[in-house]
Amino acid sequence: MAEAKNLTAQDVHDLVADYMNDEHVKKVDKAYQFAYHLHQEQKRKSGEPYIIHPIQVAGILAELHMDPDTVVAGYLHDVVEDTTATLADVEQAFGHDVAIIVDGVSKLSRIKYKSSREQLAENHRKLLLAMSHDIRVIIVKLADRLHNMRTLSALREEKQKRIASETLEIYAPLADRLGIMTIKWELEDMALRYLNFEAYHDIAKSMNLRRQERLEIVDQAVSEIEHAITDLHLDHTEVYGRPKHIYSIYRKMVDKNKRFEEIYDLLAIRVLVDTIPETYAVLGAIHARWTPMPGRFKDYIALPKANGYQSLHTSVIGPGGRPLEVQIRTYQMHEIAEFGIAAHWAYKEGNFAGADVQNADQQKLNVIQGILELQADAQDADDFMESVKGDLFTDRIFVFTPKGDVIEMPKDAGPLDMAYTIHTNVGNHTVGAKVNDRMVPLDFPIKTGDIVEILTSPNAQPNRDWLTMVSTRRARNKIRQYFRKQDKADNIEAGRKMVADWLEDEGYDVEELMQPENEEHAAEKMHFLAVDDMYASLGFGDIKPQGVANRFSEEKRAEIETARQEAEQKAILEHHQTIEKETKSAKNHAHREDRIVIQGVDNMLVRLGHCCTPVPGDEVIGYVTKGRGVSVHRLGCPNLKAAEVEGNRLVDVAWENPAGNSKTEYDADLQVSATNRNRLLNDVIRMVNNTTRSLNSVNGRVDHNNDVRISISIGVKNLEQLESIMVNIRDVKDVYEVKRAFK
Ligand code: MN
Repeated sequence: MAEAKNLTAQDVHDLVADYMNDEHVKKVDKAYQFAYHLHQEQKRKSGEPYIIHPIQVAGILAELHMDPDTVVAGYLHDVVEDTTATLADVEQAFGHDVAIIVDGVSKLSRIKYKSSREQLAENHRKLLLAMSHDIRVIIVKLADRLHNMRTLSALREEKQKRIASETLEIYAPLADRLGIMTIKWELEDMALRYLNFEAYHDIAKSMNLRRQERLEIVDQAVSEIEHAITDLHLDHTEVYGRPKHIYSIYRKMVDKNKRFEEIYDLLAIRVLVDTIPETYAVLGAIHARWTPMPGRFKDYIALPKANGYQSLHTSVIGPGGRPLEVQIRTYQMHEIAEFGIAAHWAYKEGNFAGADVQNADQQKLNVIQGILELQADAQDADDFMESVKGDLFTDRIFVFTPKGDVIEMPKDAGPLDMAYTIHTNVGNHTVGAKVNDRMVPLDFPIKTGDIVEILTSPNAQPNRDWLTMVSTRRARNKIRQYFRKQDKADNIEAGRKMVADWLEDEGYDVEELMQPENEEHAAEKMHFLAVDDMYASLGFGDIKPQGVANRFSEEKRAEIETARQEAEQKAILEHHQTIEKETKSAKNHAHREDRIVIQGVDNMLVRLGHCCTPVPGDEVIGYVTKGRGVSVHRLGCPNLKAAEVEGNRLVDVAWENPAGNSKTEYDADLQVSATNRNRLLNDVIRMVNNTTRSLNSVNGRVDHNNDVRISISIGVKNLEQLESIMVNIRDVKDVYEVKRAFK
């Protein structure tokens, strides 16, 4: 790519004279004089007079046919930042709009680009848009960047690379988002040249080598297409080979792993026509002449891209069997495709920007709205102007540190929020803040573009009032954290009491358990360096007392558990002795005797175990009590274990009628586990009552985890009914387990 030749101020004059009226041309000339006078002593890095740069920027804008204020701002874009002129001088000489644009461009130049991380790049793009209350600021900034890229060779290599990658990550995507493709392509190609010279050079060389050959093939395809559409009798069409850009070839080679030839040899032809019906007519003629490739037709006229792009795309098996890509669009669509939003600010027939937008038809408005991703409710031109000029990102603000770093925060953030965003230590030592060089209160509302300086002092410390002055969660947490640390002694005391209370509630001897060796054991198990840290952490609310208390009671609980198990064994034995006694007593449940068949044994007394409440359908087993009957248990009943120990006293038994009978109900005990809440017990009871009339008893007990265990005793006819009740209980909200109880 040849370096663009420098324009002179006369060239710019001629360019604007081509499309502006005399009054506006004079204004542009006056801007040149103004800038020339201010910059005249200055030189660029290349050694050239500085004024060459603003002339080129104004020239790029003139080539885009931008409105007078934008071209004027191109001339003046560096005077406030780099010369003695003030914004007020600019406003006085050239009016409010020019001053706004120059101010915006100056502010953007303060932004420091830091890293190539994707997230950050997106933030910067947002920032640029948010900062630009007038979209023409971005257009001038892009022209400025374009010329800086064209003259990048004057800088040191390290700086070249930094600026080139910034261009590729921030400015080219921005140009793309605004649809200004001519600038996007040139920025990308030049950035590649500095970031990967070898790749750039290889592609450029290959393109040169094949240029002549390609031109001939393109010419042939063009004339074939012209021939194919002659029957349509269109009087104002243009057919030409679409230029290929080095960077886009590079990306396809890298992303799709293709060879240069595969991309470069693909013929791409563009057809420009006057009207939309003509685009479809041309498409029809081309499809009639050559075979379309399946899946390649795209109608971006009916469904424009987000940045407003419209065209018909198709691929056909073209002349000589070569694949041929064709884009068909109107001249108006073409202008949008190349110049994007700049096309809407372009000077037309004595009107200038603003007037153009206000006169724009609804379709154009939609295009720009799409570009800016604005709300769909901006129905008329006034709304549109408001939304272009207002902040584009209403929920975030972007502010600068005095060093030019960008800090992104939620809209209502103040200086303290910013201080804590920078670093906790900055926040904790804040004594004051300056916004744009003025001292402000710590809850001063800051806006996008403000330069915020946080004043700190090593002896300063947070104040409890700060909690009411911050709006970000981070700042609030950090301030709370600070006070929690301050109050450590109180928190240690509080933590100790929490553990003691817990242990007491659980019925332990607090004095006995809260001994130093136990405390150290607990702290170590909980990974604290010191016992005080553990208690303080409890007091802060970082950990829960149960965990700590459990460490204390560990040994005790083990002892208790052993004792409990022993007691249980004993109880089981006693239980069986009781059963035997009951069985002997005449008032055992005689009405149940005949429902169990005991294999190989006749006429024995039979009793259903209270411990496991078997019902017809359960798999059961019998336990022969000493000489006087059989107690029947469910398989797996723990009480049978004791029976096994006592020797071979188990007998096989079976239900005579496993479905039960319609008249008799059997007791069954259930255990329900649930997370406690209001009305939980009510809900369980209601559910049970829906399925059986025999709800004998319900008992609930809540433990410290807020879990609740409910014991339910019901009467059912058989296992099938019992199981369906269990399923229903399981359906109650917050119930997580329902099982048959063993006692
Ligand atoms: Mn500049």
